[in-house]
Amino acid sequence: MKNKFNFKKLFSSNRFFMVVSVFFLLSFFILGFSKIGDKVIINFNLFKISAREEQVVDNYINYIVDSSESDKQIVNKFFSKGMNLDSFKSVCNYQSEKIYKSGDYKYISYNFDRMLHYSDIENILFNVNNSDIVNLEVIGHSVDDRNIYGVEIGNGNRVIYLDANMHAAEVASTTFLTKFLNDLVYKYESGNKDIIEALNNVKIVLIPSLNPDGYEVYNFGIESLRNHELWMYENKDKVNLRTFKYNANGVDLNRNFPTQNSGLYYHGKKLKSSVSLKKTVKNGIYFGNLEMGSEPETQAAMYFIYKHYKNTVVYVNMHSQGRVIYAGKPNLSDKFNNTTIRFAKWVSNNTGYKVHGLSSEEVGEGNDGTITDFFSEVIHDFKFSSDTLRLSSDKYKGKHQLKYDTAVITLETLNDYTSNVSVFKNEYYNHGIEKLLYGLLTY
Ligand SMILES: [Zn+2]
Repeated sequence: MKNKFNFKKLFSSNRFFMVVSVFFLLSFFILGFSKIGDKVIINFNLFKISAREEQVVDNYINYIVDSSESDKQIVNKFFSKGMNLDSFKSVCNYQSEKIYKSGDYKYISYNFDRMLHYSDIENILFNVNNSDIVNLEVIGHSVDDRNIYGVEIGNGNRVIYLDANMHAAEVASTTFLTKFLNDLVYKYESGNKDIIEALNNVKIVLIPSLNPDGYEVYNFGIESLRNHELWMYENKDKVNLRTFKYNANGVDLNRNFPTQNSGLYYHGKKLKSSVSLKKTVKNGIYFGNLEMGSEPETQAAMYFIYKHYKNTVVYVNMHSQGRVIYAGKPNLSDKFNNTTIRFAKWVSNNTGYKVHGLSSEEVGEGNDGTITDFFSEVIHDFKFSSDTLRLSSDKYKGKHQLKYDTAVITLETLNDYTSNVSVFKNEYYNHGIEKLLYGLLTY
């Protein structure tokens, strides 16, 4: 005889109550509550449980060369190691966590009226992700285990790539990008014809904060760090938290990329006096760590660059000190520098910021390993050398060939670091930031 399903038995069984209580317990974990202004936002985490996306970066084999580069012979002295080979492979093979849509899109108002916690920015990201024009993914995790997000807005093939806040105290550009993407998606959702057309031709790709631990500590204090064993927390009384640049490990992320000249000096040049060979609590000093590509934030940025560089038309790395634009790499191709300077001048026309061109860039004095160095070398088709453990130019010596025609600049917004939102608001509307960001849609 078949067993018939017995409701009476089920309801009276212990198993039923166990199932019910487990369900309720789970619901508490699944629902997250947070506050933006006076709005309480409920996150249905159930719908954004991480899922493995398909592999988006080519197999690492495509990015590694075994030959030793000729430059190796003229390297006088390494002061730090290259990037761990397995770490490099795992960046190339990284499988990001796609965030699923969690409900209907709703506009969350933000106009620099308050300083946003990183969790507020996350709520804005989750909300815009409910629009069909947005893709949101977790591209890595910070040292203090915050999510680092990569956002894609638009259906076009031409990529406009923006990121911000790799330097902790430079939080302004994070709010600029958050404001921009929040309003851009709102305009799209409200049926703005120009925006809809633009987003069918272009894809805005951005990372609002590359250093979310630094963002939170700069704005809300050292107790924002959850892990008190981190270097930043242990040195909290010595570090000037109003001006610090590094991540929670005390590393300047913008000197931590495994570029050709990173972590070494050569050609008989001396190290710049501002370069440090060990961790320091001093500001204005560059320390890119004793191993390149060591930081999880660096690796997240590398992953997203490898995902998008082939389609990128312009790359803007946003900082917040001095209202200037850095453009040009003396060690790379003329074609690249021409493209880059042309774009820098266009940005300058929008913002009034001054362009610093090739003559203000130095190579081989221990100051290399920036994210713009990395992006620029990748579009010149530099591969990672398993010998020197950094990007290699072996077969390009003498004449670098640009493979992907992309402009790459560093954009320094604001006069100086601040967390004053009215200063941000003024810069956004009155110093061309809003105009620039919307202008990029049709650049
Ligand atoms: Zn900076």
